[in-house]
Amino acid sequence: MALLEFNNKGIYCQRADVYIDPWKKVKKALITHGHSDHARPGNLAYLATHDTAAIMRQRLGLAKRITAVNYGEKTMINGVQFSFHPAGHVLGSAQIRVAYKGEIWLASGDYKIQNDFVSQAFEPIKCHHYITESTFGLPFYDWEDQKEVFKEIGAWHDLNKSQGITSVMGAYSLGKAQRILKNLPDFIERVYTHGAIENINEVYRNQGVQFRKTIKIDESIKPKDLVGQFVISTPGTMSTSWMDRFENYQTASASGWMMTKAIRRRRSVDRGFILSDHADWKNLNYAIKESGASHIYVTHGFTKQYAKYLNEQGYNAIPVSSKYIGETPIPEAPE
Ligand SMILES: [Zn+2]
Ligand SMILES: [Zn+2]
Repeated sequence: MALLEFNNKGIYCQRADVYIDPWKKVKKALITHGHSDHARPGNLAYLATHDTAAIMRQRLGLAKRITAVNYGEKTMINGVQFSFHPAGHVLGSAQIRVAYKGEIWLASGDYKIQNDFVSQAFEPIKCHHYITESTFGLPFYDWEDQKEVFKEIGAWHDLNKSQGITSVMGAYSLGKAQRILKNLPDFIERVYTHGAIENINEVYRNQGVQFRKTIKIDESIKPKDLVGQFVISTPGTMSTSWMDRFENYQTASASGWMMTKAIRRRRSVDRGFILSDHADWKNLNYAIKESGASHIYVTHGFTKQYAKYLNEQGYNAIPVSSKYIGETPIPEAPE
C-alpha cells in the first residue's frame, strides 16, 4: 500500500487513517492552508498550523475540533510521522511531510517561492514522492519580481489620485489583500477595505503580522472620504452595487491570470497587475528539483500538460484529479 493515495474524498494515508485537505467529510483532516477549497467544514477533527487554525476559526468556527501545531513539530499517528513546513502561499500555509520507515511523501498544497513578507517563507523539503499543484504549470506563466509590480501599482494610484479618481483593487480576502497592504509603496499611507478583507486582516494582526493602517468601509464612510483613495475589495464585489459609493473610480485586479489578455478582458477591469500567490513555471520546476523526488503527482491546474513535461525530464509523474481550484477564476467563489 502506498503511504499516500488519492481517493474520492481527498489525499488519504491509510496507515494513519487520516486525510490531507479532504473535500468530503472524514474523521481526521490535516489542512495545508485556510483557502476554502483546502479547508472545508464538516470533518470531525483537524490538525493544522497555529496560523491556519486561527484563520479556520475565523472562517469556519470549529474551535474545539482543531489541534494546532508549530512548523516542524512532529506528530505521530499510528506510527506515521507528520510535520508541517512553510509553503509561502498565505499566512500559516504548509507543505505536509509524511514519513514512514524511511519513505517520505510531501503534500505541498499551494505554494510560492518568492517571499511576500506576510506568509512564512517557503522552505524546500527533501522527499521521495512529491504532490504538487500546477495552477500555472505552463512556460507562459513567468512572474516578474513583486517589487516591480508594486511600483506599477503605486504609479497607477498616483496618477488616479492626481485626478481625484479612486483606485479600487480587487484581491482575494485571504492572502492577496494582506500581501498588497504589506508591500504597497509607503506614500500610500492608508487603505480603505471591504469588510470581508478586514475580517482576515484582523486574524493576521492578531497572529502578529504588521502592515499599514486600514479603514473598513461601512455606513459611516461618505463618498467624499473616498475620493482619490486606495481601496481593496474582493473580486466578487466589483460588479455589484457595492461600487455605487464611488463617484469616479478605476478598477484593477491583482492575479496571475492577468498575464492572459482574454481573461483580463473578461474580468473587465481597467488595469491588470500580475501578482500570484502560486508558483509560476520556473518556480514549480525549482521546487520539484529541490525536493529530490523522483515520483511526482500533479494536482489542480494544468495537470496533464505539466505531468507530461515532467515525464520528458525523466521524472515519474502522473496527473491526479482533485477538487482543488487553484487561483479562482472570476467571479471569486463566495466566501
Ligand atoms: Zn490556496
Ligand atoms: Zn489550491
